[in-house]
Amino acid sequence: MNNQLSDKINSVTPSATLEMAAKARELRGLGKDIIGLSLGEPDFNTPDYIKDAAIQAVKDGYNSYTPVDGYVALKDAIITKFKRDNNLTYERNQLVVSTGAKQALYNVAQVILNKGDEVILPCPYWVSYSDIVKLADGVPVEVPTSITTDFKMTPAQLESAITPKTKMLWYSSPCNPSGSIYSENELRALADVLQKHPQIIVVSDEIYEHINYGVTTHASMASFADMYDRTVTVNGVAKAFAMTGWRIGYIGAPAYIARACNKLQGQVTSGANCIAQRAVITALIESPSRVNYMVDEFKGRRTLILDLLNAIDGFKCNEPEGAFYVFPDVSAYFGKTLQGTAINNASEFAMYLLEKANVATVTGDAFGNKNCIRISYAASEKEIREAIARIEKVLV
Ligand SMILES: *Cc1c(COP(=O)(O)O)cnc(C)c1O
Repeated sequence: MNNQLSDKINSVTPSATLEMAAKARELRGLGKDIIGLSLGEPDFNTPDYIKDAAIQAVKDGYNSYTPVDGYVALKDAIITKFKRDNNLTYERNQLVVSTGAKQALYNVAQVILNKGDEVILPCPYWVSYSDIVKLADGVPVEVPTSITTDFKMTPAQLESAITPKTKMLWYSSPCNPSGSIYSENELRALADVLQKHPQIIVVSDEIYEHINYGVTTHASMASFADMYDRTVTVNGVAKAFAMTGWRIGYIGAPAYIARACNKLQGQVTSGANCIAQRAVITALIESPSRVNYMVDEFKGRRTLILDLLNAIDGFKCNEPEGAFYVFPDVSAYFGKTLQGTAINNASEFAMYLLEKANVATVTGDAFGNKNCIRISYAASEKEIREAIARIEKVLV
């Protein structure tokens, strides 16, 4: 039979992080002892006070369809959170709760973009951005950055990437995969450029907000009065609260954008899961300091993995200020032959580490950067030590 798939789905690249995880699983199935540092997922359990709220919700009979844009009680918790953590004021009609921040991002792309509209993506960017944009018939416009600017886009770079077709700018801060954080001043400088281009909507993905190691204070683009009406603030509980599988994310946005996302979601998935939403009310109302123990643990591992990687000649690391990844530049190995294997690019390097060192990482290509690999340190110190020791061994 002919392949009857749409051009659209054929144009989408499978998620590289999920693919790497699948490949690691396959090798484990063959009996190999693989250390997985590829997935962006905390290795902690969801905190008990949040689990208890979910258990209570089951007992209280929360089992019906939920409002498409989220329970009112959850929206009120989100309003409290935005005010408390970000000094952002949103009304209920500016909020939409979705099945993960990923769906929230997908909704926004679908309701804003027309065919051919350009979306500026500072590289490295989160792996799904470019495909979410393509699924909305948008055109990703990659702005390369490097370790010399701590993987941050400069105002001049933004200015020169803008064309009459530019409709959006998307970024995450703290950034997955680089861990970089835009300071308030840096965001202000980008906002100053955007002032001259009022048609551009900003998507600010702040899902790692609470995983911040205290060097740069978290700042939100929407907190600038002149950006508020054109910024979509995306957040979720997956990362900071160790709730990846619960699938709850949300946006704060201009009301017309929230209304459009609500309309779309109502025809696609309906409201997000009832029990998870009840649990997230507790996660957001309680002080975020209750999850500091996880942040402290990540911070210790960050120091460890940076020390270990910086001791390897060919690895050049920036110092991540948030999230739980390092994004070393490994281009020093390109063009070399390691133990009989030619290494020409980051993909081949990551594959070499998987096959020879039994350590799963992700190629920077997936994030729009050809010189780096992403290593997640959401793993125990023992695993981190063992993984880097194995890597070091196969590099000589
Ligand atoms: C994990 C991640 C998401 C997706 O979050 P979910 O709530 O699990 O859908 C979105 N953006 C970034 C930058 C992420 O790392």
